[in-house]
Amino acid sequence: MNRPTPRDDLQALEGYHSPQLDVDVRLNTNESPLPPPPAFLDAWIDTLRATPLHRYPDRAAAGLRRALGAGLGQPVGRVFCANGSNEVLQTLMLTYGGPGRPALVVEPTYALHAHIARITGTPVVAIPRRSDFTVDPDALVAAIGANDPALVFLCSPNNPTGTVDAPEVLEAALGAGRALVVVDEAYGEFAERSAIGEVSEERPLVVVRTYSKVWSLAALRLGYCIAPTWVVDELDKVVLPYHLATATQAAGTVALRFREEMAARVRELVAEREHLVTGLSGIDGVEPVPSGANFVLFRVGTPGDVALARTVWDRLVARRVLVRDFSAWPGVEGCLRVTVGTRGENDAFLTALEAAVRESEAR
Ligand code: PMP
Repeated sequence: MNRPTPRDDLQALEGYHSPQLDVDVRLNTNESPLPPPPAFLDAWIDTLRATPLHRYPDRAAAGLRRALGAGLGQPVGRVFCANGSNEVLQTLMLTYGGPGRPALVVEPTYALHAHIARITGTPVVAIPRRSDFTVDPDALVAAIGANDPALVFLCSPNNPTGTVDAPEVLEAALGAGRALVVVDEAYGEFAERSAIGEVSEERPLVVVRTYSKVWSLAALRLGYCIAPTWVVDELDKVVLPYHLATATQAAGTVALRFREEMAARVRELVAEREHLVTGLSGIDGVEPVPSGANFVLFRVGTPGDVALARTVWDRLVARRVLVRDFSAWPGVEGCLRVTVGTRGENDAFLTALEAAVRESEAR
């Protein structure tokens, strides 16, 4: 049989892997630990009942864009929505990347930036973060000068380190070249600083956000970006027509009515994050990295001890606690990442971790 081969440049590519296991405490994918409020579900389902399902969705997602823009103090023309922020990122790369138009990333960072770039035929230029995971503005300016990227990806708070960029980092990226600067703020609501207020018609800046974390709607796949209208106009040309289901659009609009409740949840999760950091710091041989997100990266043992971190991860799984294993990940070797859960989940994790570390060091 003739088995057609995919594009040559896709042959070396691996898919995205984040193992799911059947456990009691699942703290590995940075979702909200709580489902949306019951009143949200009622309001959303009422809206769906009144929806003519035999008709295509509103192609412009006008209601959702209006509601999002109003909430953020941005004109509706600066809002673009898609199926998760991953699809926003993909649309940005389809529009501004491509062969001969490099994307610059600062690693370790969210793996999908480089992955989606490669899928869209966009060359990837990667520079390292400093040892404390912050971005060096001078190194960024130098790399932009040397590579003239079409896109620069920043991630603040950064996944998996939780690092929030200093304002100088964004200024350096915007001042250095002619790239579209994309700030991935999937965890922006948990941080003290956001770049959304910096978006204007005069700067090539895009800020990407998601409903998957704060809004407890990871299952529905909804993300958006705030960008100059001249960027949004181009994205609208590239994205598939009717890509965003009516049910998703409605969920996004209805969710915004629960803003106060979600803001209270963010405050609670930030307090829980600090509870986790204190607990982690109290365990011998464990060192948490400062985080502005709803997760915490932590080192186990001496820096770079891949084997010990992997053993601890295995022993956590044996105790039915799942965190994300970054032990062999370049730049964060010897680290694991825990998502902030409820107080019960966080304490169950801390208890299991303490025992797992003790056992592993005695191996
Ligand atoms: N950006 C970052 C930094 C993320 O960590 C994630 C989720 N892991 C995403 C984007 C994608 O989120 P979603 O597609 O669910 O909006």
